[in-house]
Amino acid sequence: MSSRPTPFEDNLRRCETLLHRFSDAPLGHFIGGESLASHSGATFSNHTPIDNRLIGSVASADASDIDAACSAAALAFPAWRDMAGSERKKLLHRFADAIVARADEIALLESYDTGQPLRFMSKAALRGAENFRFFADLAPDARNGLALPAEQHMNFSMRQPLGPVAVVTPWNTPFMLSTWKIAPALAAGCTVVHKPAEWSPITATLLAEIAHDVGIPPGVLNTVHGLGESAGKALTEHAAVKAVAFVGESTTGSHIMRQGADTLKRVHFELGGKNPVLVFADADLERALDAVVFMIYSLNGERCTSSSRVLIEASIYAEFVERIAERVANLKLGHPLDPATEVGPLIHPDHFAKVCSYFDIARVDGATIAAGGQAAAGHGPGNFVQPTLFSDANNSMRIAREEIFGPVLTAIPFADEAEALALANDSDYGLAAYLWSRDSGRVQRLARKLDVGMVWVNSENNRHLPSPFGGMKASGIGRDGGDYSFDFYMETKNVCIALDTHSVPELGKS
Ligand code: NAD
Repeated sequence: MSSRPTPFEDNLRRCETLLHRFSDAPLGHFIGGESLASHSGATFSNHTPIDNRLIGSVASADASDIDAACSAAALAFPAWRDMAGSERKKLLHRFADAIVARADEIALLESYDTGQPLRFMSKAALRGAENFRFFADLAPDARNGLALPAEQHMNFSMRQPLGPVAVVTPWNTPFMLSTWKIAPALAAGCTVVHKPAEWSPITATLLAEIAHDVGIPPGVLNTVHGLGESAGKALTEHAAVKAVAFVGESTTGSHIMRQGADTLKRVHFELGGKNPVLVFADADLERALDAVVFMIYSLNGERCTSSSRVLIEASIYAEFVERIAERVANLKLGHPLDPATEVGPLIHPDHFAKVCSYFDIARVDGATIAAGGQAAAGHGPGNFVQPTLFSDANNSMRIAREEIFGPVLTAIPFADEAEALALANDSDYGLAAYLWSRDSGRVQRLARKLDVGMVWVNSENNRHLPSPFGGMKASGIGRDGGDYSFDFYMETKNVCIALDTHSVPELGKS
């Protein structure tokens, strides 16, 4: 009698079935409502980080494919812009319903494509659907502005969508991040050309298919696959594109700003981070420990808001570091489709090599490896690294300054509040900071002085869709969330109407 499959075996079996279509034919672009190969026929290969096996090939766009996608977005724009907000709202809710219906498929494929553990990815599609619902509900009022009465004139403002926009996304949580950008753009009345990351192309294609299935008109959401230096560059230079919403590395943000300069594109950048978590001796240390471990070792540490620097008050430093190290040694590294897995393989051999390079950098700089510190053996040919903790570090070491973007944490002691603040702000980045203290005056003093876009107090990162999301310094330009997103995807126009009571200057009268 055959025994029932374990949940892991069941996930593997279901994923294998879903993967057939990707080995049968290259994954196409989605342009003007059609799935298309590149004009040139060019493709690139897509591999899973689990064992670096080939998943399939993917159409690789050049400037002519990008031009076709931008032309489709420009053609579709007037009708989408002029559609009643209430109609867009209905369509975007239908979009969300369809994401929920395919949530299981999205989660399994995203996990296989990126190496992110299924325990986290199973919520990614549902969070994507929530993004669509949230912005769908705001669509009917997105155009509304302010009434600004003056003595002899009535001013009022209104907003109109910018036009076709580019959305360029990274590989770390590709589905959720894409919806976070695309949902508000569509709700605002913009049309979109999306270029997903070449290391994680699969779920962007599912998103385009869903758009088609629920009746989003052809050309409103176009998806082009390709490499950053060619397809991404052509897209962010294209004259029809009015703005670029970009999530990725800070250096890529600089390239995009340069590429968009000739056509004066509006840009919105969500970039890297080296986010500090400040742990004071008076904190609830049990909760702080859970949050510290969660915020760097979940999502493989491939997370922009990961708390990759833990700053610990000197009086509790040794004990707190020891407790983190115990947890790190216990983390379950494994196959991302195994429900027990807490840390999976890193996205790509290049990224794996980059993360591993910091083990030697840490040693040379004089830090102690309190846990992990090498590639993980016993997991086959995939990109597995041991979750790692560096202690006895200081803020001038490269492990404290550079975004490693892996399950790697650097622990630094501080003497008092002033030093904690100085260390936290001594960074090129300024995305997020986390504060753990029961002293309400202290957390407010620090929240005012931290040079970051987001401060979480006694909490891990928590999503709240109306709140502003974004960073300072090298971590970004602009904010997402609620009305902040519409401010980016829309132009604000002022209308000034006289009450006919003011005197108009009279020139040339005899
Ligand atoms: P990346 O910058 O290498 O690539 C991101 C996207 O940009 C990809 O689609 C890539 O093809 C494209 N690209 C590359 N060069 C380009 C160019 N010259 N012109 C146009 N497009 C180009 O980033 P990544 O390695 O995919 O992602 C990891 C980075 O993303 C990390 O730095 C992380 O912190 C950041 N990130 C930030 C946030 C945030 O909200 N701040 C969220 C997630 C990830």
